[in-house]
Amino acid sequence: MAHTILVTGAAGFLGSHLCDVLLAEGNTVLGVDNLSTGSTANVDHLKGEARFSLIEKDICQPFDPGPVDYVFNMASPASPVDYARLGIETLLVGSAGTINTLEIAKRYGAGYLHASTSECYGDPEMHPQVETYWGNVNPIGPRSVYDEAKRFSEAATMAYHRYHGVRTHLVRIFNTYGPRLQANDGRVISNLMMQALRGQPLSIYGDGSQTRSFCYVSDLIDGIVRLSKSDEVMPVNIGNPEEWTILECAEEVRAVTGSKDPITFKPLPQDDPLRRRPDITRAKTLLGWQPKIRLREGLERSLDYFRSCLVTADTAESTPL
Ligand code: UDP
Repeated sequence: MAHTILVTGAAGFLGSHLCDVLLAEGNTVLGVDNLSTGSTANVDHLKGEARFSLIEKDICQPFDPGPVDYVFNMASPASPVDYARLGIETLLVGSAGTINTLEIAKRYGAGYLHASTSECYGDPEMHPQVETYWGNVNPIGPRSVYDEAKRFSEAATMAYHRYHGVRTHLVRIFNTYGPRLQANDGRVISNLMMQALRGQPLSIYGDGSQTRSFCYVSDLIDGIVRLSKSDEVMPVNIGNPEEWTILECAEEVRAVTGSKDPITFKPLPQDDPLRRRPDITRAKTLLGWQPKIRLREGLERSLDYFRSCLVTADTAESTPL
């Protein structure tokens, strides 16, 4: 059955892909975004779509979208460079913004999914990360504006479930990439792809032995949509368990772009997690989900997009705080 769905952060990387999938399923989508890190370019292709609307709004102020059946709360700066630049905004959207959207779900008896993050695990002492691990987060470090806001949002989501019976879902999202990832958000895939396409040296922070596990965007959205249709209240990791060192990731980028440019080593940002890899047993068993697209193929699928960004974007660097 088609539903009316509120998506916050609808003009962002993940939010806009989510809108596409929800619309393709026949739903009506109300998108909200304050465009602080999102871009209307991500939803330009939906201009003629009668079932889609985008309102420019900051969810930190209470608002009433009218009756909705489901709320996806995707709004937040999400790259380390963006949330360092927008620290207070990140804290506010992950506290006031989350409460305001939970209030909407409560008011209309709607389901609710909060986009949480592998950053809840901080610099993990447990590997791979299972959902029952409580994490190793520095509450006062440069990443804390994001990590603690997301952890507060998880607590708020559980509280609205426990105290008000809201049908909630928590997804812990691991590193994701693909078309519409901001070319200048300072993330490793966007930086390396843009540098390789520009014929610039590839910037590696630290010695490049730290690891990440990269999920292609269509796999991630599939996992999120499945979770939203399930009865699972407790957090579910969605990410690709294939783990790469950052140096190996740079080699994949070189292979896909044909870059022969050297690597330049730069300082490792403070509290940069040493390794990260999701245990996806719960997603597999509860949702029948697992990723299909490996890093090489995902980078190939993203190549045209990053090429199209060449004219506009500069790469961003992480600055030590
Ligand atoms: N990184 C890098 N070069 C870059 C950007 C990032 O080596 O140009 C590293 C960064 O230090 C981290 C990893 O790549 O270890 C992933 O960083 P990203 O900013 O993509 O996201 P994170 O997983 O840290 O949130």
